[in-house]
Amino acid sequence: MERNTRNKNKNSRNEPRRQIKIPECYFCESKNLPNYKDTLVLRRFITERGKIIPASRSGVCSKHQRMLSTEVKKGRFMALIPYTEGHAL
Ligand SMILES: [Zn+2]
Repeated sequence: MERNTRNKNKNSRNEPRRQIKIPECYFCESKNLPNYKDTLVLRRFITERGKIIPASRSGVCSKHQRMLSTEVKKGRFMALIPYTEGHAL
């Protein structure tokens, strides 16, 4: 009860952040599997600095997120995707 009232007070400040819609899993929808050769697809799931975007933000399901992370790492090794900002192509 106490917690609910506290949240209500904070609500006005936090609301815009909560309303961000998390999209459906891209790979489930397109019925594709992540592949290290699809750099254009993989680039959607890494930040500008080369970090892999967490599933909570990208909406990818856990099964595809696991595949995605290994494919991103393969792509980095094959020099298709940068490891960090400084290694950008
Ligand atoms: Zn999926």
